[in-house]
Amino acid sequence: MCSFFLSRDTDGSLFTFIAKRKYMFVFFFSPICEIEVPERLSSCYEQLQGYNLIERCTSVPVREATEDEIMLVHSSDYLEIVKSTEKMKQEELRKISADFDAVYFHPTTYLCAKLAAGATLELVDAVMLGRTRNGMALVRPPGHHSQRNAANGFCIFNNVAIAAKYAQKKYGLERILIVDWDVHHGQGIQYIFDEDPSVLYFSWHRFEHQQFWPSLKESDYDAVGQGKGKGFNINVPWNKVGMGNADYVAVFLHVLLPLVFEFDPELVLVSAGFDSGIGDPEGQMCATPECFAHLTHFLMHLAKGKLCLVLEGGYHLRSLSESVCMTIKTLLGDPLPRLSGEMAPCLSALESIHNVRAAHKTYWKCLLHEGNGRLKDLETTTFISALTGLILPVAYSYQPDLTVVIIGQNQSLSQNGISLLISLLQGLAQSQVLVLIQESESKLLQDVIKLLMGDFTPFLGNYTPASKENVQMLTELRQQLQQEWKMLQCSGK
Ligand SMILES: [Zn+2]
Repeated sequence: MCSFFLSRDTDGSLFTFIAKRKYMFVFFFSPICEIEVPERLSSCYEQLQGYNLIERCTSVPVREATEDEIMLVHSSDYLEIVKSTEKMKQEELRKISADFDAVYFHPTTYLCAKLAAGATLELVDAVMLGRTRNGMALVRPPGHHSQRNAANGFCIFNNVAIAAKYAQKKYGLERILIVDWDVHHGQGIQYIFDEDPSVLYFSWHRFEHQQFWPSLKESDYDAVGQGKGKGFNINVPWNKVGMGNADYVAVFLHVLLPLVFEFDPELVLVSAGFDSGIGDPEGQMCATPECFAHLTHFLMHLAKGKLCLVLEGGYHLRSLSESVCMTIKTLLGDPLPRLSGEMAPCLSALESIHNVRAAHKTYWKCLLHEGNGRLKDLETTTFISALTGLILPVAYSYQPDLTVVIIGQNQSLSQNGISLLISLLQGLAQSQVLVLIQESESKLLQDVIKLLMGDFTPFLGNYTPASKENVQMLTELRQQLQQEWKMLQCSGK
């Protein structure tokens, strides 16, 4: 079951749309944005209808976020400023918009921003209360650039950051993961949780050695968090445009997944911006819509499947709407589409991966023991390192037509581990997996059948990091094999 929200546009978005139509008459007075337009949502909705996905999702009415909820993240002074824009005339709106970077206030902006945040919180409730397994909130304005005291980059209230604080407060969560796959750095989220080890923030973003907006030093890989939050802020800077499917999957396999399996989140929030997709004028990246299906699939294996995606950017309407559909199909459990293009990350991506891993080595046990050594038996503790650092990269390099998993007797993996392995391998071969199990393993057989039927979300509890010897041996194996299987590479050095 997947949940789906569309913040309704009888209010601000429609108003923005009308304002856009008046553009030619009021050019000097109405501050409006050329790309963050209402059609972003309507095109997604039309495409979802085209794929018959609307009727497969549970649609939940949205509500406005309350002032108290907004103030979980934002200051009361800033809230009052946003509130005051409701009654402003055009000239005042233009002036107040100019106080911020790339922000366009309209009399209905406040209402729309409250609806976007409120829809996100409704999604968190639906997932946390088990009304739905996962879901996506299609909302605007986006949120990840907005800060405690400032609107920024089309963002008014920080929807995802508010959702994280809300989930902590209402459900007592101790570990929340935020994955920001928008092509811009969500510096707002970074600032809010910079010293907070209970929220792990991951962002990849077009950076180009600080030349690309917002051009901040703290968007680079060495901004790892501050104080107690050190190690809980992961920035992957893209120093070139044109990053594609292989680059994105490589970062997930070699940076995000090993760290977050160790982090063991209780809820995953995604700042799901699709300006990192092909065709987008902002990102100028090359990842195809199918790539977002795979990224979603990876994240579905964390936090017992509690996954909430929230729309951020995405300005190429065709690319955006297709990517949203691919994401929602994956949430619904559809077979994953094949990834196009050569599965080999580029040198610039490998340099970024290497730098991030090196910067976080001090904070994450799974990165600690890199070097040369010998592998002992494959123990459960080594499992995640082997899965993300060896098995999946080889599988993604090879792109099989069928995956066969053979589970013999006396293997040392836990049932959860085996289920996780099978489920992650379902990302390949258009989800065609043949599992061969010894007859004596009847409990495992039941789990695997449930898993293949889509009724069971595997997760790995009780994470313990791999031993030094095993990590070193995996590293050695990777080095031996990476000429042939390019996705094994995790360094540009
Ligand atoms: Zn963006």
